[in-house]
Amino acid sequence: MQIGCPKEIKPQEYRVGLTPAAVREAIAHGHQVMVETDAGTGAGFTDADYIAAGATIATSAAEVFSNAEMIVKVKEPQAVERARLRKGQVLFTYLHLAPDRPQTEDLLKSGVTAIAYETVTDARGGLPLLAPMSEVAGRLAPQVGAWALQKANGGRGILLGGVPGVLPGNVVVIGGGVVGTAAARVAIGMGANVTVLDKSLPRLSWLDDLWQGRLMTQYASAANTAELLKTADIVIGAVLVPGAAAPKLVSRAQLASMKPGAVLVDVAIDQGGCFETSHATTHQDPIYEVDGIIHYCVANMPGAVARTATLALGNATMPFMLALADKGWKEACRQDPHLLAGLNTHQGHITYPAVGEALGLPS
Ligand code: NAD
Repeated sequence: MQIGCPKEIKPQEYRVGLTPAAVREAIAHGHQVMVETDAGTGAGFTDADYIAAGATIATSAAEVFSNAEMIVKVKEPQAVERARLRKGQVLFTYLHLAPDRPQTEDLLKSGVTAIAYETVTDARGGLPLLAPMSEVAGRLAPQVGAWALQKANGGRGILLGGVPGVLPGNVVVIGGGVVGTAAARVAIGMGANVTVLDKSLPRLSWLDDLWQGRLMTQYASAANTAELLKTADIVIGAVLVPGAAAPKLVSRAQLASMKPGAVLVDVAIDQGGCFETSHATTHQDPIYEVDGIIHYCVANMPGAVARTATLALGNATMPFMLALADKGWKEACRQDPHLLAGLNTHQGHITYPAVGEALGLPS
């Protein structure tokens, strides 16, 4: 199969759909891979790396799109890219179609067979192509929170891990899923006092077993949250209610109960945020202050560590990419219901009911 990997063109997107390692595997499976020049630069991969792995380099995106039977990307195709898609072509990337009518309509018009990373499932009911980015964002959260706590950034001037004779900082993580667990892991590693709140008792039980006293758990009632806010140095918002906007769990009025210069890191900002005072920020201008509390609300946190994020995503997508290339999308999806769950559009039809329902379109 001819596989194509264009350079990402969404602003501030430095990841790339195929790593040189993925190219090498695809070539070993007998496929041809075309990569747009400079596609990997943001993630630290040169054209020479791709050539060494067996790819050919295209000088333009148009060449990649016209040549490829399957396009492998990271972000949803932008309008100019959508205009290049065609019937019979497979698109394998993040799509997030439910809130995006223009993109959905363009994909239907193109007739492309679009398989969305975010709806591919696994045997345990998880989302294996979303989880690596949650891991990255979660592990980054205490790191950016610790940075924001520094005096020059408006924070309390607290060293998260303390020093001998000085207590460490308190980190409260709301939501103990993939992001929350990853955040707790790094906060513990930095030496902080960590408490995780969740509505799921089995999840709290699992965390308690895992950390055996090095982490505290509390049921995520409004009362427990309010109490923990008073002593928190960093609060990390990591909740997810599938298919819904994030619930607002900290009100503006509650900021007054917090220590001045404490930090809120709202990882759930991509679902609208779980703090009333959150609004999305960018890597260029990541923090702002409300009522003396520093907010960090970057909606695409993994972009800050594009190389790690690209490698993590590539590890997760590679077996699916190879199955699609080796067997063709139809046979690959027939053999693997989890990959089939990723199929969102095909030849002008919506094939993922939740997208149709969200947009009021037939599926
Ligand atoms: P997940 O499903 O693994 O975990 C979510 C957890 O939230 C679950 O354990 C659930 O029980 C808990 N929860 C739900 N409602 C709650 C409530 N009211 N109070 C306390 N806990 C509650 O999801 P995840 O992969 O960890 O993702 C968490 C959030 O991070 C999502 O909104 C996701 O979109 C977002 N995210 C953001 C970025 C970014 O760059 N900003 C990157 C990756 C993920």
